Amino acid sequence: MPETPEDLSNEIQDLLQQAVLKSYPNPERKGCPGEHVVREVAARLRPIQDEPWEHVSHCSPCFKEFLELRQVAMAARKRLVRRNRLVLASVVMVAGIGGVVFWTGGTRLPAPPTTVAAVINVDLRPFGPARSEVEAAPQSKPLAATLDRKAVRLVLSLPVGSDEGKYEVRVMDSELHAVMTNTASTAFADHVATLSVAFDFSRLAAGSYVLGVHGPDGSWRTYPVAIR
Ligand SMILES: [Zn+2]
Repeated sequence: MPETPEDLSNEIQDLLQQAVLKSYPNPERKGCPGEHVVREVAARLRPIQDEPWEHVSHCSPCFKEFLELRQVAMAARKRLVRRNRLVLASVVMVAGIGGVVFWTGGTRLPAPPTTVAAVINVDLRPFGPARSEVEAAPQSKPLAATLDRKAVRLVLSLPVGSDEGKYEVRVMDSELHAVMTNTASTAFADHVATLSVAFDFSRLAAGSYVLGVHGPDGSWRTYPVAIR
């Protein structure tokens, strides 16, 4: 007796596969598209009900080849997934009979790691041109951004007139001690110089901070930010 819906769907899948393997004997291999086509069908990440699939699911010898190639393709993909620590796609096993196609999860893969940080655009252009001295009392200026306590990629749009080159970006506490630093080189988007820097704000306590941007010409510019 199947104990879970998953066991049941695996059981149904097995029964369907056995049925397809027996129901369409084609000893003369009439209309068989050839191994390269079956291989292509077996390598698919998603079901496509096209002509090759119609044939493969209605020809026992081709379906047998399909199952074998599918296993090879899935094993190769699993190795790749392990190597890259990335889930390329959830692998789906397919079995079809009588025009009805069942799709069930064939392989259980680990959940994808959360490597993609949210992109936060922070426009520093309204805060004026870069200056060459460290400014006093940055907290008295309006907030440049309110940031959530999580891993993010900050894309900073620099004020007009900012130099091209390598910048250092610091997150400083209210006493202007750096708590995080990162570096980035300017990139241009629509003629605006931008810096893209990754920060993991989940490690910081919520509160008032200062974003310091240190330009290639030695200039410092500071912007108050809040982390919540
Ligand atoms: Zn065939």
